[in-house]
Amino acid sequence: MFITYSDKIYADIGFHVFPIKKYRLIHDRLIKEGIAEPGEFIEPPLAIEEDLLLVHTKEYVRDLMELRWTERTSRSELPLGRKIRDSYLIGTSGTIMACAEALKSHIAVNLSGGFHHAFPDHAEGFCYTNDTAVAIRKTQQEGLARKFFVVDCDLHQGNGTAYIFRDDPDVFTFSIHQENNYPIKQKSDLDIGLPDRVGNEIYISHLQTHIPEILDKFKPEMVIYLAGADPYEKDQLGGLSLTIEGLKERDEYIMSESLERGIPVTILLAGGYAYNTDDTVSIHVNTCIAAKKMWSMFNES
Ligand SMILES: [Zn+2]
Repeated sequence: MFITYSDKIYADIGFHVFPIKKYRLIHDRLIKEGIAEPGEFIEPPLAIEEDLLLVHTKEYVRDLMELRWTERTSRSELPLGRKIRDSYLIGTSGTIMACAEALKSHIAVNLSGGFHHAFPDHAEGFCYTNDTAVAIRKTQQEGLARKFFVVDCDLHQGNGTAYIFRDDPDVFTFSIHQENNYPIKQKSDLDIGLPDRVGNEIYISHLQTHIPEILDKFKPEMVIYLAGADPYEKDQLGGLSLTIEGLKERDEYIMSESLERGIPVTILLAGGYAYNTDDTVSIHVNTCIAAKKMWSMFNES
C-alpha cells in the first residue's frame, strides 16, 4: 500500500498539546506490528511555493516561506521556524502524492496532513497549510480528477476547507464535529454539529444517513478522508465519546462505502490529542490497518 512518511515531519514545537511525535510513533508501530515494511514508506519532498499559491495568498505564502511572524502566521498557535514550516510542506506534498496514487490503486495514506483550519490568507489552529485544498487544486490542475468529496471526521469543524470551497460545485465538503468547540464555524456543504459526549452509535448513524447518499448523488471521483483521532472519549481537546473500537468502525465504514462504489480514498490523519499519546497512535494505526485491508481487497481481486 502507498504510504508516505518522513522523519522530518517531526519538529521541536516546545511544550505543546499537539503531539507532533505521533507521526514517528505511528510509523514505528506500523513496522513493529508488521503492517508495513521499512522500505514501503515514500518520503515526500517539500511542497513548492507554486503549489501553495493554488490556494494560499501571495502575502501569506511569503510570510510562511520567509518565516515571518505576522498577523497571518501567528494564528497557528504554534511557533514558526524552518523545521516546523518544512513539516507542513512535507505534509502537503504527501497529500498531493497520496491523491495521485489513490487514483491508481484505490487507496493511499499520508501519515500527516488534514490541516483543515488553514485559510487562504492565514494559518489557524495548528495548521499552516491547507494540504487538502492544495492537493485538490493540484490534482485538478493535472487533469487527474475534478470532483472531490471531503469527509472530515476530525472532532473540530473543517473551517478552512469549508471556506475555501464554499462556492465550488466540484468539491463537496462534509464535516461531522463537536458543535460546542473550536473553531468559529464556516459553512460546509453539509455540517453535522454534534452535542457534547455523543458516542459511537449516534455518530455512526449520522454517517450511515449521509455518506451513501452523498456518494450516490454527488458522484465524486475521489474521497479525501480526514480520519481525525480526536472524537475519542479520552481526548484533551475534545468532548465527544467515541471509543477506539468505534473509531475503527467509522474508518472502515467510510472506506468501504467509497471503495465499493469504485471511488478511491485518500486518507489523512488530522488531529488527535488523547491524554495518553499511545491511544492517539493506536487510533491512527487502526486507520492504517483498515486501509491496508481494503487495499488488499481491492487490488488483489
Ligand atoms: Zn481536531
